[in-house]
Amino acid sequence: MISREQAIKTALYELEQQREENYTQEREREAEVIAANPEIQKLMDRRSSLLGQGIRDAFRDPQGAKALSEKIAGEMRELNSEIRRQLVLSGFSEDYLQPITRCRECKDTGYVGEPVHELCTCVRQRMLRIMMSDAGLRDLETQNFSTYDAEVYPDEPVPGRKSTQRAYMEKVRQRLEQYANEFERDAGKGIILYGASGLGKTFLMNCVAERVLRRGFSVLKISAYRLYDVLRNYQYDQSESEMVRDLINADLLALDDMGTEPMTRNNNEQRGLYNILAERIACRRAMIITTNLDRGQTLERYGDRIANRLYDAGRMSVYQLFGEDVRRFVKH
Ligand SMILES: [Zn+2]
Repeated sequence: MISREQAIKTALYELEQQREENYTQEREREAEVIAANPEIQKLMDRRSSLLGQGIRDAFRDPQGAKALSEKIAGEMRELNSEIRRQLVLSGFSEDYLQPITRCRECKDTGYVGEPVHELCTCVRQRMLRIMMSDAGLRDLETQNFSTYDAEVYPDEPVPGRKSTQRAYMEKVRQRLEQYANEFERDAGKGIILYGASGLGKTFLMNCVAERVLRRGFSVLKISAYRLYDVLRNYQYDQSESEMVRDLINADLLALDDMGTEPMTRNNNEQRGLYNILAERIACRRAMIITTNLDRGQTLERYGDRIANRLYDAGRMSVYQLFGEDVRRFVKH
């Protein structure tokens, strides 16, 4: 799991590369323009000596600096408009020599705001993409509350249920969105989504994970199958010890498809799972779990130590999903 800090560092480093690239491109354009119209070289030389002179004069005569700088600014404006005119004459666009930036907001510096510097939106978005491309979070770019579509669920009455599948899923979505919006570090509240395959459990879990990640918390998403692998590798050779640390420390652990892993009662992997759950619960770190096991089946498969911890009403909200398999309706 890449941390938020690492992701920001990477995003800022990429911007630095971007600035280099901008600079190179600006120099290339200058060379191109000067080759086509030597007059522009003279105008640019004049402009840079004017700038140097302005700075020298301001040092020499701080009192008169304001009047001077206005005079220089006026000349600078004239030079610039002459440069633009010459550019157009030579067949370039008039802003061809303007500084090149990819982001209008921060001009590729990564920061906005005075006097308080804040990370620019472009850095935050890049950071999220970096985090999402890591640790199996790739799906979050396409599966989140803004792409969630209640229309995929049938709106017909379901035998033995008060609401239609669509109405019920809408209620679940609202609750989960509220959960994600109010998520706090170490508040300890978690979610279990249980029901048959194809009811949208993983999609909903991804929605929560994406929102929580976007709000600046660390999220580790892992399938139960992969978790089993991690625990097995860890006990044999302590490989993946970093992963185990993340499993315990992530602000939100999103565990997908619990019950599908090749786990039998009382084996070492099971002990590992128990230790992770117990540790997280002791530190009040939240989990969101999808499973097609109900409470009884969870008890049967994992024993009461795990089942009791998972189905503690003060700690976990349990949502049972029902209805039709909707995967055939969902576009991926
Ligand atoms: Zn920016």
